[in-house]
Amino acid sequence: MAISLGEYNISLDSRDDEANVNFVSHAHSDHTAGLKKNKKALASTVTKDLVESRSSMSVELIDEPDCVQLLNAGHMLGSRQLFVQNDLYGYSLLYSGDYQMDEPVLAEKIETKHADVLIIDSTYPYPDVKFDDKKEVVDAIQFYARTKMEKGHVLFGAYAVGRSQELVKILNDAGITPAVDEKVARTNEVYKKHGIKLDYVPLDFEHPETSSVAIVEQSRLKTMRESIRARSVKQVFTAMASGWSKIFRFETDVQFNLSDHADFHQALEYINACDPKIVFTFGSNAKLFARHLSARGFDSRPLVNTSDVNALLLNTSSNL
Ligand SMILES: [Zn+2]
Repeated sequence: MAISLGEYNISLDSRDDEANVNFVSHAHSDHTAGLKKNKKALASTVTKDLVESRSSMSVELIDEPDCVQLLNAGHMLGSRQLFVQNDLYGYSLLYSGDYQMDEPVLAEKIETKHADVLIIDSTYPYPDVKFDDKKEVVDAIQFYARTKMEKGHVLFGAYAVGRSQELVKILNDAGITPAVDEKVARTNEVYKKHGIKLDYVPLDFEHPETSSVAIVEQSRLKTMRESIRARSVKQVFTAMASGWSKIFRFETDVQFNLSDHADFHQALEYINACDPKIVFTFGSNAKLFARHLSARGFDSRPLVNTSDVNALLLNTSSNL
């Protein structure tokens, strides 16, 4: 998926063989595929540092073209939206990768701006899914950790990049210094480099039972639980922190609805704030999301065939 801006053909969070620059909205790996082909990028310095800290990819940031503005997306530290002024196409365009309207735990709060055309992520297209109040989720995590660490070991599973740092911050605010695995630690160090205070210790894999509260990348949760159980007589309490907790049941004792995405209700708030004339949805839930938006009166279309965004936009411009 790419858009053409004069000398630049900019891929949007994806690999596009026609593109000569990547817009990388943030450092999650499902948004960085374009960097495997070409290291030139429009992105924040935080995103560059995060990508380089956990992969062999190097990122060469280019200056923003005059007609482009990067706006905070509120998703994770360094996340941005791509705004294109209207002097090139005759209409303005805003592309959001992942974003949220809620106050983020660690990221910069989202900036919204009017755009004629909005290209929007469709991760949570379900009108009946409403995320829990973030303050209540934070309180619940802190209460759970404080209570259970007196009885045994508390083990959190989360994405290593973004969510785990939020957990460290939430636990720190409750006076707890968690142990973290090396993937989480690597990302913590980038956050610290960019001014975020995070207190943690490295998890001792030989003796994980020495930690009362630990955070591991979610795929390691079961293995680590068994490892602690084999070495400690105390109980092990497991917890997941994910937006998907509203949809899936994880194999943990509890699951907290800590998300850095917009749910459907936040998406409506976002669209209303940007006040676009047309909304293109993209991602695996693009059709469903567009259908729900159309039912609420928006001119909304799924970008199913993402190779021809330009053609779609140029066709659309005559209607704007
Ligand atoms: Zn993301």
